[in-house]
Amino acid sequence: MPRNTTSFTVAGAGVFGAWIAYTLRRAGHAVTLLDPFGPAHSCASSGGESRIIRASYGTDEIYTRMAVRSLALWETFFAETNRRQLFQRTGVLWLTEPDDAHANASRVALRNAKVDFEDLSPADVRRRYPQINAASGVGAIFEKNAGAIMARQAVQAVVEEFTRIGGEYRHAALRRPEEEDTRASVLIYACGPWLGKLFPDLLGRRIFLSRQEVLFFGVPPGDFRFQSPQLPVWLDFGSQRAMYGFPDLEARGFKLACDRHGPPIDPDTADRLVSPETIQQMRSYLSERFPALAHAPIVDARVCQYENTSNGDFILDRHPTLENVWFAGGGSGHGFKHGPAVGEYLARMITSAHASPESRFLFSTKATAQSRVVY
Ligand SMILES: Cc1cc2nc3c(=O)[nH]c(=O)nc-3n(C[C@H](O)[C@H](O)[C@H](O)COP(=O)(O)OP(=O)(O)OC[C@H]3O[C@@H](n4cnc5c(N)ncnc54)[C@H](O)[C@@H]3O)c2cc1C
Repeated sequence: MPRNTTSFTVAGAGVFGAWIAYTLRRAGHAVTLLDPFGPAHSCASSGGESRIIRASYGTDEIYTRMAVRSLALWETFFAETNRRQLFQRTGVLWLTEPDDAHANASRVALRNAKVDFEDLSPADVRRRYPQINAASGVGAIFEKNAGAIMARQAVQAVVEEFTRIGGEYRHAALRRPEEEDTRASVLIYACGPWLGKLFPDLLGRRIFLSRQEVLFFGVPPGDFRFQSPQLPVWLDFGSQRAMYGFPDLEARGFKLACDRHGPPIDPDTADRLVSPETIQQMRSYLSERFPALAHAPIVDARVCQYENTSNGDFILDRHPTLENVWFAGGGSGHGFKHGPAVGEYLARMITSAHASPESRFLFSTKATAQSRVVY
């Protein structure tokens, strides 16, 4: 392990903070990681069972490239630490409608990034996935090497490895920079949905928290149609639907959620009970697309929050006035997969005098009105 003298304090053991801390520690730095609740806890955006890893991002090729890089790093990490089961290569099926601009742009980006994918015709989709009641004209992009990452366990694994290689983890909160000694250490606030509370003037109106509800449905006993490999992770964003789901992983049930932004939420005080409206919306969707599950029992449920920036681009930047203070956040409902690349990017920005920043990640490019473009 190389040696280095600068010390770093990372606040937040979600996927961003965990990877930033781990990456800096691997580079030989003295790093302390703090979280008052614990890695990937139930109220964090990184909590919960699973997250999608996919590289299709329409015209936003920067995220295609980051997803490819991150998947390689996730897989190396899991292989090196003997945890291969935390990435399940189910494939990701993105259902597409005719003349779907996002899908057309994704195909170009996937080819540019040499991502292995299949273009499935409507007939292919119906033949391969008879459990999906795809309307006529619905084809798909199938990313073969994509899949599901076991989210909470994966973050906890990164923190465990971080401490194993000499990083210090403490169950504590970092205070605002004006209350800390910013000469002693570089402070990195990777506090996800709490960033707006910590920096009300700077980020309070630049991060929009939305309530996101997730349901798990019990699959009929002995019915393997809703398990991998019969069913991959899938997304169904046609006709304003914004639905996505997972096959039955680790026997938790068929997971179903809507990516449309829900109402505002406070991560400290919100009740984490799914609303009757969401249950009704999910049931009606199931009847249409997965009719065999229309009456399936709800076996688990979660309420989480997205921490959205105005357009969905991350904030990975230095504090505008405090030299030793950095932000990492704004995962905007798609950040999990990118944890490793975020760690690499921010570590490079902080430690290299010659690194050139990506304008989309700068604080100055974040608006105070929401207009989502990244999906
Ligand atoms: C329902 C749902 C589905 C999603 N699906 C996907 C998906 O399929 N694919 C994907 O790539 N992404 C997905 N995302 C997005 C992704 O999960 C988030 O972008 C990502 O987890 C954000 O991680 P984070 O580390 O920034 O924040 P968090 O995980 O919230 O971590 C922030 C941490 O900071 C800590 N903290 C707060 N204040 C302090 C303090 N003062 N000092 C120290 N620590 C502090 C908190 O306790 C918390 O643990 C989804 C998100 C949700 C909610």
